[in-house]
Amino acid sequence: MTTLPRPRCFRSIAFIGMMFLTAGLSAAEPLRVLIVDGQNNHGVWPQTTQLMKGWLEESGRFQVDTATAAPKGTDPNFRPQFRNYHAVLSNFGHGAAAWPEATQKDFESYVGNGGGFVVIHAANNSFPEWPAYNEMIGLGGWGGRTEKDGPYVYYNGEGKLTVDNSSGRGGSHGPQHEFSVIIRDREHPIVAGMPVEWMHAKDELYDRLRGPAQNMQVLATAESSATGRHEPMIMTINWKQGRVFHTPMGHAEYSQECVGFITTLLRGTEWAATGKVTLPIPKDFPTADKSSSRASAK
Ligand SMILES: [Zn+2]
Repeated sequence: MTTLPRPRCFRSIAFIGMMFLTAGLSAAEPLRVLIVDGQNNHGVWPQTTQLMKGWLEESGRFQVDTATAAPKGTDPNFRPQFRNYHAVLSNFGHGAAAWPEATQKDFESYVGNGGGFVVIHAANNSFPEWPAYNEMIGLGGWGGRTEKDGPYVYYNGEGKLTVDNSSGRGGSHGPQHEFSVIIRDREHPIVAGMPVEWMHAKDELYDRLRGPAQNMQVLATAESSATGRHEPMIMTINWKQGRVFHTPMGHAEYSQECVGFITTLLRGTEWAATGKVTLPIPKDFPTADKSSSRASAK
């Protein structure tokens, strides 16, 4: 028998193998995400941290670590190495004690130099006295926030983006319910391809958020029956060189099991980390009339 076919065969296998390896290296390198938590008025925070970690890792796009502060007061040992991550996700909440000053400075330099920051639900209640934090989140609520902290921002009934400097409290919500999310910028990569209107699972609909709102884009809103305004539900903020993705959705596990929330979380985190979105809109995404939820893998 001739030996000729064998080296040919080897060559093609080696070639295919090399292509596979190259593709694998470029496409499968996970983005590193750090979830920070430890103090939150939502007692369910340990579960929602694990839930979000699960959704992120299940996508294959992210590898997630957590850093948890001591349960009360400023934790002098809370000093995560933010710079080792493509994005930091805050699952802190209302009443969280200030981070140590050195940690605040680390975080400002991390985001300022191009780091990604992901703000979920009550994370926008945290740290009302920290000016750079308020700039990063764009809008916040509770914690004594009022007109001194910046305007209300919402879409009015005519579909016009409104910056409202009237006085009043920052942050409120009515009873939890399912509600429609309306996409306001169909081109932005986080929401491109989503149905223009989709039904979110039961959640708190945060209203009357207010803050500096500089370099902020509102990508989606939901109409609050408490205010009659279309309140921001998905936002991006550019802070110095950094990218911030902010959603006030995600009160409880059942809110975070909504496929609309999961998809927004994954694509928003990818955008905060890289400035691009490659993750798809899944087939079980909610429609205008019907919410869609997934049981967590746990
Ligand atoms: Zn809540």
